[in-house]
Amino acid sequence: MAVLWLDDVSADDVETVGGKAASLGELTDAGLPVPPGFVVTADTYRTFIEEAGIDEELFAAMDIDPEDSSELKAAEETAHDLILGTELPDSVRAEVLEAYRSVGADGEEAFVAVRSSATAEDLPDASFAGQQETFLNVTEERLLERVKECWASLFSQRAIYYRQRQGFPHDEVDIAVVVQRMVDAEKSGVMFTSHPSTGEARIIIEAAWGLGEAVVSGSVSPDNYVVDRDTAAVEEVTVADKKVMMEKDAETGETVEREVPAEDRERRVLSDEEIERLVELGERVEDHYGTPQDVEWAVYDGDIYMLQSRPITTISDATDDTADAAGGEAANGGTDTATAGDESADAGGDGDVLMQGLGSSPGIVSGNAKVVTKLDHLDQVVEGDIIVTEMTMPDMVPAMKRAVGIVTDEGGMTSHAAIVSRELGVPAVVGAGSATRELSDGQTITIDGDKGTIREGQPDESGDVEEYEPVEAVRPETPVKPMTATEVKVNVSIPEAAERAAATGADGVGLLRIEHMVLSLGETPERYIAEHGADAYVEEIVDGIRTVADEFYPRPVRARTLDAPTDEFSELEGGENEPTEHNPMLGWRGIRRSLDKPDVFQQELRAFARLYEMGYDNVELMFPLVNDAEDLQRAKERMHEAGIDPEERRWGVMVETPASALGIADLADCGIDFASFGTNDLTQYTLAVDRNNENVADRFDELHPAVLSLIADVIDTCRELGVDTSICGQAGSKPEMVDFLVEEGVTSISANIDAVRDVQHEVKRTEQKLVLDSVR
Ligand code: PEP
Ligand code: MG
Repeated sequence: MAVLWLDDVSADDVETVGGKAASLGELTDAGLPVPPGFVVTADTYRTFIEEAGIDEELFAAMDIDPEDSSELKAAEETAHDLILGTELPDSVRAEVLEAYRSVGADGEEAFVAVRSSATAEDLPDASFAGQQETFLNVTEERLLERVKECWASLFSQRAIYYRQRQGFPHDEVDIAVVVQRMVDAEKSGVMFTSHPSTGEARIIIEAAWGLGEAVVSGSVSPDNYVVDRDTAAVEEVTVADKKVMMEKDAETGETVEREVPAEDRERRVLSDEEIERLVELGERVEDHYGTPQDVEWAVYDGDIYMLQSRPITTISDATDDTADAAGGEAANGGTDTATAGDESADAGGDGDVLMQGLGSSPGIVSGNAKVVTKLDHLDQVVEGDIIVTEMTMPDMVPAMKRAVGIVTDEGGMTSHAAIVSRELGVPAVVGAGSATRELSDGQTITIDGDKGTIREGQPDESGDVEEYEPVEAVRPETPVKPMTATEVKVNVSIPEAAERAAATGADGVGLLRIEHMVLSLGETPERYIAEHGADAYVEEIVDGIRTVADEFYPRPVRARTLDAPTDEFSELEGGENEPTEHNPMLGWRGIRRSLDKPDVFQQELRAFARLYEMGYDNVELMFPLVNDAEDLQRAKERMHEAGIDPEERRWGVMVETPASALGIADLADCGIDFASFGTNDLTQYTLAVDRNNENVADRFDELHPAVLSLIADVIDTCRELGVDTSICGQAGSKPEMVDFLVEEGVTSISANIDAVRDVQHEVKRTEQKLVLDSVR
């Protein structure tokens, strides 16, 4: 029998039908509304390759060097050609088509979803979303071909690569395919039947217009609803700006992305009544399995359907009721999820939203606004104040440490204020526009560093807002750091954060910026050297780097030479000699300035040489804003002059400009050990979006296909040439970027301090997924 109906499938059939189909069978069995469908069993695939006699050739073609990308590609093509080019036996064709014909309602030709169902996927502790081939809106015409394409997806380059690396035999992997009637969803989404990180009795629902693919793939920010299961109260409603939706094209039947009509973009997707029905179904699903579930659902013609259910594997064992106080979404940027004022029963101050900026360091906090317009006002900042300033400067760090929160008029998610407040663990809202003008000194405000809101007053006693605590204090403790093949490191910009950074268990520092150490001297490097001598300058840098290198020893610390723009130097003593630039971001910074100012650059390199002499062999040297091999050859000469042998030390470059990405092979030729993506700059230079300009913050998209394409090509080339790759821009803290990089084969990921733990888990999940994908 080539097919089994979902009605006849249960959890015991996982070997023949895979996890996805077994779970759908269970749901059907429990009387939950599941669209009808059947499974082409794993045996059918196995019999197909064996009886057609293509099995030996297929598996022999997989015996390749996985590090050679041309061999990988050839193996994938061979498998695809063999499977797609071989006719299905007549009996299988007949059986599959017959089953298909009875899936449609009233004998109509049905549109079906065709999905791979892996035998190792979806098992407890290994939950993976949407990685195998899935085809939507398939009709009879292409059904058989799509089934074979699912089979062929067992031999994607990535799957072959991981099986080869793991030494897992290619012939021990099987695959089933689910064929199920499409629900032509008007709205759809996902539902967590308990809180996905703390396990609390809260149902979280995400919802968007159209087919669920948009939510699962992350291409749209969905509405978010939080329901307390004990009281059945809808506690929180966050209505997102839903720009796009996926739907079936009425003519071609293809799934297409459409713009959401203007009137629906900011309209709430789910009514209270629909939420109630979803919650009821969610409870039944969780009861059926006895563990919290991650459910995909859809609404069609007023009816709710369950499309898939998997156990939630992210809940920590040590649950903690307060764990959500600091939130985990800070890396999202916050601007495209607008909190709907009236509908929000959201925590965070009772008062009206006074203004909205970018939530750039997580946590909700109340305090007195301290409007700082001049640096000499800083000593007036007292414990418990919220600093309100145009933009922060290195001199402000001592005051930032005293403050409970930070608000700035200017700046984006990668601005100094955003970076430093995250490292200090102080909630911050940046780019709020007119905060220094509209807030008055001493006014009580509540800021939400996740959502970017600034509210009047503070929550009353009965309010459920927790005092802010650093995120690692309120997150459930994870006793053992997950072991991952991809290293997870941490970014440090202020040596004061070294201890906090090391406590994350990160595998090293992926970026130590020295700008902060230098700018906090209060004088430009030129002035400092003139006033205090070169040795004193070297000592300052040695001290700063050493604080971090000590804390992490023997884990590697990648310190970067100076990369401050002229507008930051011009604030310092001696800054009057800085040129005035129209756009300092495109100006005299990074390696350009260093090469033009060999006297200053030399002192920085001497600091590295000194650290090596002192035995800090864990220090690595990285150059910022490199464009081409000429930049690097010149930098290498300077290394030699400072007594650093590039052959003996680990050194490398930031990939921050399209030029460096496109010319990576030439940079590799210069003998670098690593290339690290500075996505803050790579994004601004690829998209022509000033990273510090809040007017275009909504266009600053590190996941833009153009940026991802540059990154993927660099990783590919570096893997061929034996150069390590890494990310140290803010995007390394975003789960979507982490998934992408791990799948592309990046060597390490460096995240913000507060994101390290989540990134460790995300990396682990993606790696497991890749391995399991390949062993099905
Ligand atoms: C980057 O550009 O992504 C980066 C990490 O460097 P910086 O933010 O210091 O420019
Ligand atoms: Mg940069």
